[in-house]
Amino acid sequence: MTEIRTASEEETSAAGERLGESLQAGVVLLLYGDLGAGKTAFVRGLARGLGAPGDEVTSPTFTLVQEYPGRVTLYHVDLYRLEEREVDDLGLDDLVLGDGIVAIEWAERWRERPDDAIEVWIEDSGEDARRIRISGAPPPSA
Ligand code: ADP
Ligand code: MG
Repeated sequence: MTEIRTASEEETSAAGERLGESLQAGVVLLLYGDLGAGKTAFVRGLARGLGAPGDEVTSPTFTLVQEYPGRVTLYHVDLYRLEEREVDDLGLDDLVLGDGIVAIEWAERWRERPDDAIEVWIEDSGEDARRIRISGAPPPSA
C-alpha cells in the first residue's frame, strides 16, 4: 500500500501521472472516493502518464466509457449515475479483458469487479488536502 498526501489538484494529477508511466496494458484501476475527492483529477494525470493529452479528461455526462489513445489506450469509466443492475449491462467484464487500461470511478457500484485490480482511494482531509492510497500497483521504476 502506497500513501500519498497532496495539497492541490495538480499534485493529485501528478500522482496519477507517475502511476500511469509505470503501467502495462491490461491493468484495471478501481477508484473510490466521494464526489469532489479528486478521482477525475487523478485520471487526468494517468492519461498523461500513458501518453495521451490529459486535458480532455472530464467527468463524462452521457458517455459512460471514454477512450483516450496513447502509448496504451485508456478507457475512463464513471459509474456515478448508475444502478448496480445497469452497471452489470455495461460490458465492463469484456472491456477489462482487452488490451487497454481501464480506470473506473465509483468502482464500488460494479459488483463483479476483479480482485486483482489496482485500487485507489482518495479522501478529502480538509480544504485542498487529500490522502491517496494505492494498493496493488507495481513498484515505481527507477
Ligand atoms: P471526483 O472525480 O472525485 O468527483 P474531481 O477530480 O472531479 O473529483 O474534482 C476534485 C475537485 O477538488 C476539483 O474541483 C479540484 O480543483 C479540487 N481539489 C482541491 N484540492 C485537491 C487535491 N489535493 N487533489 C484533487 N483535487 C483537489
Ligand atoms: Mg469524477
